Amino acid sequence: MTTVTLIPGDGIGPEVSEATQRVVDATGVGIDWEVQEAGVPAIERHGVPLPDHVLESIRSNKVALKGPVTTPVGTGFRSINVALRQELDLYASIRPCVLYPGVPSHYDHVDLVVIRENTEDLYEGIEFEEGSVEVQKLRGHLQYMHGFEIPKDAGVSIKPISVSATEAIVRFAFEFALRRRRRRVTLGHKANIMKFSDGVWLDRGKKMADQYRSVGFEDMQVDELAMWLAFAPEELDVLVLPNLYGDIISDLCAGLIGGLGLAPGMNLGTEYAVFEPTHGSAPDIAGQGKANPIAMILSSVLMLRHLDRPTHANAIEQAVARVLAKGEVRPADLSPEGAPATTKEITEAIIDAL
Ligand code: NAD
Repeated sequence: MTTVTLIPGDGIGPEVSEATQRVVDATGVGIDWEVQEAGVPAIERHGVPLPDHVLESIRSNKVALKGPVTTPVGTGFRSINVALRQELDLYASIRPCVLYPGVPSHYDHVDLVVIRENTEDLYEGIEFEEGSVEVQKLRGHLQYMHGFEIPKDAGVSIKPISVSATEAIVRFAFEFALRRRRRRVTLGHKANIMKFSDGVWLDRGKKMADQYRSVGFEDMQVDELAMWLAFAPEELDVLVLPNLYGDIISDLCAGLIGGLGLAPGMNLGTEYAVFEPTHGSAPDIAGQGKANPIAMILSSVLMLRHLDRPTHANAIEQAVARVLAKGEVRPADLSPEGAPATTKEITEAIIDAL
């Protein structure tokens, strides 16, 4: 038995987590689930959204499967997802985006992997509130030191991009491309505007590419990349992006393959791995039994491959593909007109197709 930390999360999290647990268990792979609360249930029981014992459980098991959690707005709690990535140094977020036959899409063929730097950039939380004493001090300092004028009524967020984090994630992207026999890495940036943050990203990215000549490489401004993804996604392969662009582009890519309900993901560091769908807690449909569990089920496929259980992983992926191709059981988010299947019906169809 392999022990895995299971964090059902909140909103639709518990519904899609239960579905995933049932599918994984039905393969007979033998996962021992250590269930841990995070998000709203953890606030209710422990007063904090990410109790220390949850982190300890992941540190001890090394691998977690996580449902979405709501980021409480205006409560002083920072995002649990950002905290998890920083605490466990999960520096790489990987989101494969594959279009399965039978899924309604504007495209015929999409097979992309978005690799996102997960620890710095505008997500580092270095922020100065509009009207605060701190922002006034910062304004004064920037004016005195550099002659920069920041409007009096501005809030400010700082964007650090380091050489070390850039090298780590771009190396990861090339190693990933080599292992998976992918043809090209495209590095997205905006170095023409942000010369000293995206400039580091582009410069170090290009230098790293020189060490991996057997994999194709190109750099592209992120706005142009967005245009190419909408126009001809089959032209692109592995994308490597800083944190914020990676967040936006990976949701764009989810849109190419049928939406958030089908987009799995994983967060990797040197020691720990957390697998989770791209989507959030979807409060608008929570508790209604109609959430699409496939993004989380496909996240478990990535987890089983990471745990070196390729046979069980392939069995689940093929079962999902068969259900989608058949089209008899359609999740609500994929069948706006037809009679949508419930989370339970989709889960059972996948188990039957195993
Ligand atoms: P969301 O992804 O929860 O929902 C966006 C839309 O997609 C909604 O209409 C929702 O109903 C639909 N949707 C999402 N997943 C679906 C599924 N599996 N099946 C069917 N429909 C689905 O994004 P949001 O509304 O912006 O965020 C809600 C909360 O989730 C916020 O608090 C946000 O911070 C949090 N969030 C958490 C994570 C995470 O835990 N990794 C990721 C993103 C957002």
